[in-house]
Amino acid sequence: MTLRRQFIFALAGMVVFMAVIAGAISLFSFNQMLNRSVSYIQQGLETQWESALVTYYEENGSWEGIQSEVQARLHDPPRLNDGPPRDNMRIWVFAADYRAVAGAEQDIGKTITDIPNGLQMKADLVPLQFNNQIVGYFHLEDNLTTRSDFLSRTLVNSISRAMLISMALTLLVALLLGIVLTRRMTEPLKQLTQAVTDVGQGCLTTRIEPDNKGGADIKALSEAFNEMTARLAQYEEIRSTMVADIAHELRTPLTVISGKLESIQEGVIPASPETILPIQDEVIRLTRLVRDLQQLTLAEAGKLPLCLHEVDLDKMVWRIVDHFTIAIEEKKLTVEIAGESLPIDGDPDRLTQVFVNLIDNAIRHCQAGGSLHINFYTGERNISHTSDSRNNHPGEKGLFITIADDGEGIPTEDLPKVFDRFYRVDPSRGRISGGTGLGLAIAREFIRAHGGELTVTSRVGEGSCFTVWLCLKNNMNS
Ligand code: ADP
Repeated sequence: MTLRRQFIFALAGMVVFMAVIAGAISLFSFNQMLNRSVSYIQQGLETQWESALVTYYEENGSWEGIQSEVQARLHDPPRLNDGPPRDNMRIWVFAADYRAVAGAEQDIGKTITDIPNGLQMKADLVPLQFNNQIVGYFHLEDNLTTRSDFLSRTLVNSISRAMLISMALTLLVALLLGIVLTRRMTEPLKQLTQAVTDVGQGCLTTRIEPDNKGGADIKALSEAFNEMTARLAQYEEIRSTMVADIAHELRTPLTVISGKLESIQEGVIPASPETILPIQDEVIRLTRLVRDLQQLTLAEAGKLPLCLHEVDLDKMVWRIVDHFTIAIEEKKLTVEIAGESLPIDGDPDRLTQVFVNLIDNAIRHCQAGGSLHINFYTGERNISHTSDSRNNHPGEKGLFITIADDGEGIPTEDLPKVFDRFYRVDPSRGRISGGTGLGLAIAREFIRAHGGELTVTSRVGEGSCFTVWLCLKNNMNS
């Protein structure tokens, strides 16, 4: 059943249910009210008759002549609480010995048991007391109860009729309202269904116009859908670019390898160690590329296995700089390592890979005779140091490590892209230097896997500064 039908049925069901409940409650309370009023009036009448009859007895000392008095009162009854006079009222008065002294003409003088319905009357007699003595009884027969039954039936009929009419009207209004409302609600849903079908068929450019027609929820759903398709499109774009990039990166070494092998096969060049060496270089390059890609994919998926230990980054950085001694001396660089490092929890191999990459880049991009500054300091992470929602906890205490060079710098427009896979500011130079263009992407993902962040600031002609932020050891689990 469609959502629309379900909603309309639910609305109609609610109206019927409410009408039945309201009708039942009003019928019940009307009946109660009626019964209470009837017994109240009945009691009032009895009290009136009782005091009139006792007064009569008191004045006359006997029941002599009571019949004419009763008939007179019956034909001209005093009004009870100014209410309307009641017709068809009948009364029997009996002396203390149950002999009828007033009532129907033919019953006068008869004992109560000889009167039709006498036994029934006897069970419902009201005693008349004078001077603490029972001087007689009376039985009042009013058709109030019969009339109240009739009234109650009439009330039930009219309330039921009113209930049915109002139910029919409310149902009509509810149905109309349901149709209008569900149309407003389901229209955007139809759009959404169509859009989801389109996305399912691969059309990732599908977007929905979020409006307020279907209410805030549908608007939020449309916005979430648009966000989802935008992200899917972005991932698809990344995927296809990555495939193209990988194909491009593989082409050069494969071309070199196949060209050299063909020449050897055809006997153009001999199969000597010198001719095989470039093939081996390309194989090493390929192997490195595949390893880097695998690590990057793992890190991006958050599945990079980390073997955590307490790491002294100061020592690690000194060791790496030491490893680059030849390159530093060749370029006559000044290296300065300053500041105080504190222990952190990290995977020494992964972190070594990160700092090797950053220091190697800095040395490569430094001018000959230039300088390289590495600085350690502690501080709180702030928003500007993170762009990754996974690690977005501003205010956390951690260790900053900056690696600054005075090289050619990175153009402002390239800064946001330097962490992208295969991105090189100068592609021809990058490839000649042997870089895969994955170094910074891997470094950033590795640092993120440690809960940290890697950022860069740079000015063309002045140099670049890469900043690593890592959580301090004691903060790691907090
Ligand atoms: P590669 O392996 O090619 O060096 P990276 O991912 O390490 O790749 O670096 C990406 C690009 O960022 C490099 O090609 C280079 O253009 C630029 N780059 C990285 N570090 C620096 C730096 N210290 N100074 C200037 N440019 C840099």
